[in-house]
Amino acid sequence: MIGQSYHANKHADLQALAAQVVAYAEERIRLAPPLDKPLTETQLRERVGQTITAKGLGGLESMRLFAEDLAPSCLSTDHPRYLSFIPCAPSDAAAMFDLVVGASSIYGGSWLEGSGAVYAENLALRWIADLVGMPSGAGGVFTPGGTIGNLSALVAARHTARARAAAGVRPNILVATEGAHSSIKSAAEIMDAEFAGVPVDAGGRLRGPALREVILERGPEQVFAVVATAGTTNFGIIDDLASVAEVCREFGIWFHVDGAYGGAGLAAPSIRERYSGIEHCDSFIVDPHKWLFAPYDCCALLYREPALARAAHTQKAGYLDVLTEAPEWNPTDYSVGLTRRARGLPFWFSLTVNGTDAYAAAIEHTLNIARYAEEEVARRPDFELVRARELTVIVFRRLGWEAADYHRWSDAMLADEFAFVVPTTHAGETLARFAIVNPETSEGDIRAILDSMQEWEAAGSNAPGAGE
Ligand SMILES: *Cc1c(COP(=O)(O)O)cnc(C)c1O
Repeated sequence: MIGQSYHANKHADLQALAAQVVAYAEERIRLAPPLDKPLTETQLRERVGQTITAKGLGGLESMRLFAEDLAPSCLSTDHPRYLSFIPCAPSDAAAMFDLVVGASSIYGGSWLEGSGAVYAENLALRWIADLVGMPSGAGGVFTPGGTIGNLSALVAARHTARARAAAGVRPNILVATEGAHSSIKSAAEIMDAEFAGVPVDAGGRLRGPALREVILERGPEQVFAVVATAGTTNFGIIDDLASVAEVCREFGIWFHVDGAYGGAGLAAPSIRERYSGIEHCDSFIVDPHKWLFAPYDCCALLYREPALARAAHTQKAGYLDVLTEAPEWNPTDYSVGLTRRARGLPFWFSLTVNGTDAYAAAIEHTLNIARYAEEEVARRPDFELVRARELTVIVFRRLGWEAADYHRWSDAMLADEFAFVVPTTHAGETLARFAIVNPETSEGDIRAILDSMQEWEAAGSNAPGAGE
């Protein structure tokens, strides 16, 4: 405890501060937020300066600094025209419940300390496991993101492969496509594992036959995991999961599916069959903070046989015996990390409040908006689709634009707080890309952004200072 004066003031100030904090949060969640834009460090130093002082600024002044100067320099990832990377647009219920989780001082690592929270998180994990088609014994944990989720799954995969390997064999090869998410190569680096790339087919997909060739070339006994992607970040491509699963089964290799972004599509009946084969996976991740309307930071990691992950991840120490020797479900045993926030709770709360039909409907709605965007791009003579859309990512050219045009247009749109649409690159070419996961993004937003790209060139090239 910080001491007597802290507690005396605490009661005096608590009511006023609580009113302010709750009012701010409620307004932020209910009202359409501005997009906002970044400030430089110099600008922030001038506006905000030093805030940490010996006596403290007090709650109201600190809130004012946040609301007036800090928050407006942070992009609103739930703005309907934030279409870069993968946006994060939490449901109202999920965003509000994040406040409750923060206020509740719950330790989410063990059953002993957080049983109710762990129970609720496990209900949400089970909903996902059922979408995937995993058996009743499946289970896992919510990690901070797909990067830690993928790493944790791969650590469990290698641990399992090494435990099963013949004497003197230490499997250390991880097989995936070059188009797999950057976090897969990063996991290989962290684990000091070898990355073996498989060429994709013309549709950008990993398929069984090409995978089989690479595995045979490298030696099946050296490979500890195959990673397939259910919805690549740049294009939304779903690998041919059925044929990949078959090859993994043939060689007894761990089959991990990275569905950080696209895994949410499992909840949309209209596209569910594209994931066929996913039910054979040994581990799976999806980020509810991407296309499942949960706030940062939240990745669901699931294992077919959780005991294998537990053997790889449980930390052992005298001061932990009371936890690690207990038979109950301890989330911390299933991923890298020990202390954890019950970060799955906002997602669980929103599922419970809204029901799963609302999730299916919201995902179907974003698919419809993405279809509209694809049709608009195809219809307009100044634009060209790079590849047919698969989920809710659209990658396209603005005909006549060089790389610098995409960047200048994108910078100008952000400076005006009109839209956040950063370019991407593919095969050395700079391109435009929309990632649509926010149910608030409308056909009107898509039209407004495309109109601005269409009209911008003429204005931009005639404007004073253009081409500098
Ligand atoms: C976003 C993403 C990741 C990484 O997830 P983080 O939550 O950003 O760590 C991994 N794989 C894919 C396919 C992704 O789209």
